[in-house]
Amino acid sequence: MKLDIFTNLVHGDLSFDESTGAISYPIYQSATFKHIGLNQSTGFDYSRESNPTRQKLESTLAILEGGKAAFAYSTGMAAIANLFNVFSSNDHIIVSNDLYGGTYRIFEELLCKQYGLQFTYVDTSNLNDIYNAYKENTKAVFIETPTNPMMKISDIKEISKFTKEKNILLIVDNTFLTPYFQRPLDLGADVVVHSGTKFLGGHNDVLAGAIILKENDELAERIKLIQKTVGAVLAPFDSWLLLRGIKTLGIRMEKQQENAFKIVEWLKQNKNVEEVFYPGIPDHVGHDICKSQSSGFGSMLSFSVKDVSLVKTILEGVKIISFAESLGGVESLITYPMVQTHSAIPKDILDAIGVNDKLLRLSVGIECAEDLIKDLERAMRLTI
Ligand SMILES: *Cc1c(COP(=O)(O)O)cnc(C)c1O
Repeated sequence: MKLDIFTNLVHGDLSFDESTGAISYPIYQSATFKHIGLNQSTGFDYSRESNPTRQKLESTLAILEGGKAAFAYSTGMAAIANLFNVFSSNDHIIVSNDLYGGTYRIFEELLCKQYGLQFTYVDTSNLNDIYNAYKENTKAVFIETPTNPMMKISDIKEISKFTKEKNILLIVDNTFLTPYFQRPLDLGADVVVHSGTKFLGGHNDVLAGAIILKENDELAERIKLIQKTVGAVLAPFDSWLLLRGIKTLGIRMEKQQENAFKIVEWLKQNKNVEEVFYPGIPDHVGHDICKSQSSGFGSMLSFSVKDVSLVKTILEGVKIISFAESLGGVESLITYPMVQTHSAIPKDILDAIGVNDKLLRLSVGIECAEDLIKDLERAMRLTI
């Protein structure tokens, strides 16, 4: 049955707990499951391998992203760590240079230095940079779009033409737009990863991660094996929190985006602000591509202030918006990428992508937009 995303968000795979009829899918807080006889299983044996609540979440995520297999993990980083176990030393991966700091850290500190994988960081919004980085041993292209924090847009469809031609994987971190606004697998990607901690969970109360695959093929089997071997799986209660968060993803994304547009308008006219980075603005370099491949622009935005002293004033002055890491929840958060999320990234890369000491990133929540603007205005000492 082909259903609208709003219905899929609420009902997932339409399965329910047949023994009770519970409307809220039960939390199967059990590490292990009783065998009904020798060589007989209920389908569940041990929760590292599979758990009913996690399975309900995984099938929901597969439906939302238009994939055939999904795997849920304790964090977004655990998902990425599990995924990269499919690669071997000397495999080469092309990566967006404007990247989540933790992802950069696992690639460089663990996978490169300790396990011998190779990474080349390029501006994936520029197709030629990807083509030029390709080597004999290239096994995948890993992108974020929009990127964090500069909101650059990469053309998923065009990149997928290249990865298909070379028979390598296209992996998209879809944390910022979620399947509500963007479905990379429909555009040609092979793998989607998520930090479910962000928009999917949506309430700044749970850490989670996921991998969703276009096909249920050998790659899916391999990841299933890695998941049950490595672990770092999502706990039953946390799976339930994510299932609950996902039910309201659509209405949250709409409201957060509406708020983001209002704040962007205000920031653009603010004399203290130098530049605003948001893909929803028509003069943003990636606007047209974002519009063609996504049904929305999301609620993540960055802006640079003219005077660096304003950074401290704003971060310490906001009262409704919290100065905190993370993003995507109902509460608005403001982040200083240079010292927080991107502190692991070398200065030359930061300079190349434009992250500097005047840049702030805002994750817009579902509060009243006018209150958020007043909060920023007060913090900038524009009004008392
Ligand atoms: C937060 C984040 C991650 C890491 O997820 P955790 O749940 O914090 O481990 C990965 N990618 C992006 C784009 C993120 O924002």
